[in-house]
Amino acid sequence: MKKKTYETPQSYFDKINDISLTAIFHILGIKVENTRGGKSDFSIHAYYVKCPFHREKTASLAFSRTRRCFSCRGCGQSGTVFDFVKYTLKEQTRGDYDNVGVYKWFKKHFGIPLPWEKRNGKFIYK
Ligand SMILES: [Zn+2]
Repeated sequence: MKKKTYETPQSYFDKINDISLTAIFHILGIKVENTRGGKSDFSIHAYYVKCPFHREKTASLAFSRTRRCFSCRGCGQSGTVFDFVKYTLKEQTRGDYDNVGVYKWFKKHFGIPLPWEKRNGKFIYK
């Protein structure tokens, strides 16, 4: 498990991992180019999309359906579903998205509750 610099509980990411990747792509305006890739477990079970993080004509970003993470062989960007949404929104809005913006994005589009609540004026992670 990758160490997070913030205290969002794993249960939050489990909820994100229940969302279909194609639904996320749809909202972000990303088209699945193909589902055929290489021979590794990662690439066999992947969606291929044009990388939102560098300009390209053919899809070189593989998003593993089973591992729920992505890797671009063009620019080297990689990460989780959360990272993908965050980086894509940053790209699309020229940098106006922080983690809080991404939590709100998942709440707005998929009804996933924010991972914290305000108690006695303090924000507590659930
Ligand atoms: Zn790329």
